Amino acid sequence: MTRYDDDGTDAERTFAALPPARGRAFAVTWWGRAWLTALEGTALDSGQLKAGRALARAGAVGAVSVRPGRVTAVVQDRDRTPHRADVLLQELSGEQWDRFLAMAAERAGHVAALLDREMPTHLVEDAESAGVDLLPGLGDLEPECECGAWDHCGHTAALCYQMARLLDQDPFVLLLMRGRGERALLEALQARGEASAGRTAQGPDGVDAAEAYAAGDILPSLPALPALPAEPGTPPSLDTEAAPAAGVDPSALEFLAARTAVQAHRLLAEALRDGHGRQPVAPEPTVARDAVRLAAGEPHRAVTERLAEGSGRSREELAVAVRAWRQGGTAALAVLDEEWAVDGERLARARAALESAWDEDERPVLRVRANRWTVAGAPVQLRLDREGRWWPYRGERGRWTPAGDPSQDPATALATAQGTPEG
Ligand SMILES: [Zn+2]
Repeated sequence: MTRYDDDGTDAERTFAALPPARGRAFAVTWWGRAWLTALEGTALDSGQLKAGRALARAGAVGAVSVRPGRVTAVVQDRDRTPHRADVLLQELSGEQWDRFLAMAAERAGHVAALLDREMPTHLVEDAESAGVDLLPGLGDLEPECECGAWDHCGHTAALCYQMARLLDQDPFVLLLMRGRGERALLEALQARGEASAGRTAQGPDGVDAAEAYAAGDILPSLPALPALPAEPGTPPSLDTEAAPAAGVDPSALEFLAARTAVQAHRLLAEALRDGHGRQPVAPEPTVARDAVRLAAGEPHRAVTERLAEGSGRSREELAVAVRAWRQGGTAALAVLDEEWAVDGERLARARAALESAWDEDERPVLRVRANRWTVAGAPVQLRLDREGRWWPYRGERGRWTPAGDPSQDPATALATAQGTPEG
């Protein structure tokens, strides 16, 4: 997770706890190993290093929060006693950042490498010759631990080993510790008007709309649509050492983010499948209907209760609405919630469909109210939607409940409604 400051700079990133990593090296990249050398090369009790490696391997390091000048995690002892451990690294001064940015702006390849999550040795050497040390040297990783140790203890060492794993994956993490996050860094580079080749930075005022439109023909075509990811993404962990603000429920937020990813994935899949220009048939979601979408993601009990309350349904009503959602999204929910008068051409078509669905001697006796046709003497109902589809409904536990997929043919829908009730 990345938190942004008021001025738009990224000020903190939090990484979820990593699974245990038995027997594997902590750093594969040269810069990850250089980080560890800064720890291991100091005159340090080798027992603490060993303890740190064991803790990090066992998955005892909790979510790691990275901020300028500091990285923090809660590390658990073997007996599960938690210790807040910090490792401090000197931030670069404003002047050093200026020199670094001037150097990086001249060498687009360095920035491109960083964006590929690589840190070329040349970049570090060029920074060094500009008087900027990116990687920590011996003794630069300063420990602070709740256990009260004077120097590195097993906890801070474990945090350093964990950091090496994170640095391996993303060298921007090191730059954040040195004071600038990825976004702030790229914005600063762009502000220098020297973004990487092929792109031209605009002035702060942009371009007149008519001018841009007139130039439309000479612009390259838009890039191809992205490929649909196989799965919705996994949201980041919000389990940080900082206490949430009053009224904020991190697990509910995590759930919300996860459901949003699922919904975004679904919408993208539909857009890629249907192309542009297709009019959506489904009714627009409302807050009450969106609460049902969320409830369909099976949140924990407290969230379900809040969704029921917020959507004006009892828990039983919400459960029925979730069933409708799973059958047909917002269209099915509209059929569940709305009763509407069928008249004019729609009524004529509905009557004709009922007329032709059965032979005269097999036709059930149906009592009609608004868009709902109920079989006389049976807990079975057909609901007509505005698209002319018939939705099967069944009376269950004193409540009309969706019983299956809709059909253009009322006889098919009725057979579905009369089928074996779902558990
Ligand atoms: Zn400690």
